[in-house]
Parts: sequence; structure tokens; C-alpha cells
Amino acid sequence: MLHIINPANGQLIEGLPEDTPEGIREKHAAARTAQPAWAARPLEERAQIIRAFRASLEAQQDTLARTLSSEMGKPVSQAAGEVKGTLGRIDFFLENAARSLAPEPLLDTEAGGGTAEEITHEPLGVIANISAWNYPYFVGSNVFVPALLAGNAVLYKPSEHSTLTGRAIARLLHAAGVPREVFALIVGGGAAGAALLELPLDGIFFTGSYATGRKIAEAAARQLTKVQLELGGKDPAYVTDDVNVQAAAEGLADGAFYNTGQSCCAVERIYVHEAVYDTFVDAFVETVRGFSIGDPDVEGTYIGPLAREPQLAVLEAQVKDALDKGATLKLGGKRMERAGYYFEPTVLVDVDHSMRVMSEESFGPIIGIQKVSSDEEAAQLMADTPYGLTAGVYARGSERARSILAQLRTGSSYWNCCDRVSPRLPWSGRGHSGLGLTLSTYGIQTFTHPRAWHLRQPA
Ligand code: NAD
Repeated sequence: MLHIINPANGQLIEGLPEDTPEGIREKHAAARTAQPAWAARPLEERAQIIRAFRASLEAQQDTLARTLSSEMGKPVSQAAGEVKGTLGRIDFFLENAARSLAPEPLLDTEAGGGTAEEITHEPLGVIANISAWNYPYFVGSNVFVPALLAGNAVLYKPSEHSTLTGRAIARLLHAAGVPREVFALIVGGGAAGAALLELPLDGIFFTGSYATGRKIAEAAARQLTKVQLELGGKDPAYVTDDVNVQAAAEGLADGAFYNTGQSCCAVERIYVHEAVYDTFVDAFVETVRGFSIGDPDVEGTYIGPLAREPQLAVLEAQVKDALDKGATLKLGGKRMERAGYYFEPTVLVDVDHSMRVMSEESFGPIIGIQKVSSDEEAAQLMADTPYGLTAGVYARGSERARSILAQLRTGSSYWNCCDRVSPRLPWSGRGHSGLGLTLSTYGIQTFTHPRAWHLRQPA
């Protein structure tokens, strides 16, 4: 039985029966049988079904946001923002599917001396979509919407911390017309995910931690199938000496603490030029002090509980380690004395890279701010990580920002912004932040195999 706990008060919301390995095998076999007929339907029919799904998401967004908020503690206004943002992503996929999936005639018989060449984009087949809990609508729909549009069957395992949302997504997709065999919900934790990966799959699309990502890659290697991994980060931002410090502080405080710091692309390290360091730290701390902490189901709450209780001890250990090594606590630093998994928004200064808070993913409301004396020093420190999801530079001129960002091996680069994802742009990590990509038109084609056609006229 999977126990769904409300992280705001530690109380049981619901117990759900988990899928057994036998049940997962049956869903896999049914998906295998149903997929060719789904792929054979015209794209427009599949698009019509996704449009109906989008319409019910929109109609039920308030209820869906409340469900998400209750099971993982996301403040309800941010949960509503996520559902609304998902509508925009679905629109992007709907607008670009036909173009991205269309056959590409590249050479005609006249130019090719009797031989034509063409690419067709064929669905992979049956894929696994194993998902994280922090943005279940975003990270789920980045996969299952384009995958279904492209004609795949999807075995969808939401995180054990966002299963009610996963169940709601499955219900809405089925009601919209996706056959139950073509989109199958798998309920459970790591064991259910591992059982799924024992079955023959045509693609594995995973969002989660680096540690689990390695296991997923090993499972994919055993059956030699396509694998995509969207993993964690330790994303840096640098504030140069020529910007509006107040605006940078407010933008970065939001980038570090939105979703209670539990974003894969949350700002996790800040470097500030010494010329503006003191002013920046004061403005940053004042901004964070103004965040409203409380019950996630209250409209004005900005910081809610952590989704997972064990993460409280991880954050406490990072604070202790930093203080033991000479950091100064400007704000917060401990779990809150109230029911639920609350941690005070925490700002540490006088930090360096010997401290875990500057090297390990925190995934919570905690940030270290380090002083630097030049762009070169900032670039060197920003690059000092095995992760490579995003990085940002706050600077007046784009050339200065671009030349720093170009030195870093990341999937996304930000000039005067942070913690931002666009459906038009590819979302990817490098190094320990992952393999492959979602979003953009590449993120539609990634659910297909490009078949090469060599077509010679008869002699
Ligand atoms: P997690 O790795 O603990 O779990 C992710 C999923 O994997 C869950 O569904 C879980 O049940 C499943 N799982 C666990 N063990 C498994 C196994 N052995 N085999 C198969 N499946 C298994 O991660 P999480 O706590 O859900 O998510 C937080 C992490 O996700 C953070 O590191 C965050 O940065 C990352 N993340 C990355 C992105 C991105 O786009 N790069 C987006 C969101 C979250």
C-alpha cells in the first residue's frame, strides 16, 4: 500500500494499492498490443484527443492545483501556476507536432539521378515515463504529450510523492480518449520503477536525482534501449558590478526559493562581485525575510513545507557543515517548530567550495552567497561542479554575460534571469544533470526514430 502523506501536517491523505510486478507486466503487454493501432491513427485524431485533455486540465485547474498542493506541499498559487503553464506547453506541442513529425523529402529523383531520399519520423513504440514529484505536470507532460502525439504508448510512473496528481492526469487522458492500454498509470515507488525497467522498452524517459539516474542508465544499458535522463543541478548565478542590485537580488531570491527551493533549476549558489556584495546581501536577505511562510493551501503562501521529511536532515547537515567551516548565518538555519516538514528560508555568507552547501544539491530553501573579485574568478567557481543544468549572469551588457556563460558546460544559459523554462527551447542537462532533452521541436522528434528511405526508380 502506498501511503500519501500531506507534508504540511504529516497526516495520511489516502492509501493506494501499488502495482505488483505481475500487474506491471500485464500493462506492458497490453501497451505493446495497443500501440500500433494508436500510431496508425491520423495525427489529427491524436491531436484532437490531446486538445480535449488540455480543455479538461483548464476547466479543472483549481481542483488539480489543490490536489498537487496537498500531496507535495507546493503553495497553491504556485501549483495553479504550474497547471496553467502546462497548458502553454501543450499548445506548443499541438502547434508544432505536424511540422516536426512530417516526412522530410530531401532529394528528389531528378536531382538524385533516379534515387530519392526521405526521412520519416516513426514512433519509438512502448516507452517508460518515470517522473519526479517537484513539478509533476511539467516534467510529466514534457514527455507524455509529445510521446502520445508521435504515436507511442506510455507506461507512466509518477513519483510516489505525486501519485494523486499522476492518477488525475491518467483519468483526464483516458476521459479525453487515450485508450487505457496506450497510457497506463503505474502506482508505486522505486521498486515499481525498477520492475518496469525489467521489461522490454523502446525508450526510457526519466526525471529525478543523479543517484537514481545512474541506476536507470544501467537498466537501459542492460536492454540497450534509448534513455533520457533529466537530473539534478547545483545551478550558479553571478551578479556583476554594473547591474541594478535590488532587481538582481529580488530575481535571484525568487529563483532560489520558488517551490520552496525544490526546482531542478533553482539557483543553488550565488557569486557576487565585491563592489556590490554588501548591498546585494542586504537586499537579498530583506527580500527573503518578506516571503510568507505557511500553509500551502493558503493563497498568499510563498514558502511551504518540503515534500519529503528526510530532506530536513540533509539541509540541517549542510548548515552545520558550513558553520563548522566558517560560514556566517544571515537568516534561518533550522527546521521550524510546527507540524509538517518546514525548514526556515536560510541564507549563508562567507561560504566557499569546501562546504557541502556550495557543492551538493540542496533541493530546499537554502542558499550560499560567495564574494568574488573578478569575472574570471566567478567563471572558475561557477564551472566547479559535476552538474550542468543552468547558469545565469546578471550584467548590464550581454557580451560580458555571454562570454562568461560560454565557458560553462550547461544546457541553458540566462542573462538577467534565472529558473526559467520555455517550451520553445530545448531543456537539457550536461554532466551529472543528464542526457538527452525535452521541449522545443527537438523534444517532439526525440520520441521518434528517424527512418532513412533510399528510393530508387526501377531500372
Ligand atoms: P528520485 O530519483 O528519488 O525519484 C525519481 C523517480 O524515480 C520516482 O518516480 C521514483 O519512484 C523512481 N525511482 C526510484 N528508484 C528507482 C529505481 N531503482 N528504478 C526505477 N525508478 C526508480 O527523484 P525525486 O526526489 O523524485 O526528484 C528530485 C530530483 O529530480 C532532484 O535531483 C531534481 O533536481 C531532479 N529533477 C530534475 C529535473 C530536470 O528537468 N532536470 C526536473 C525535476 C526534477
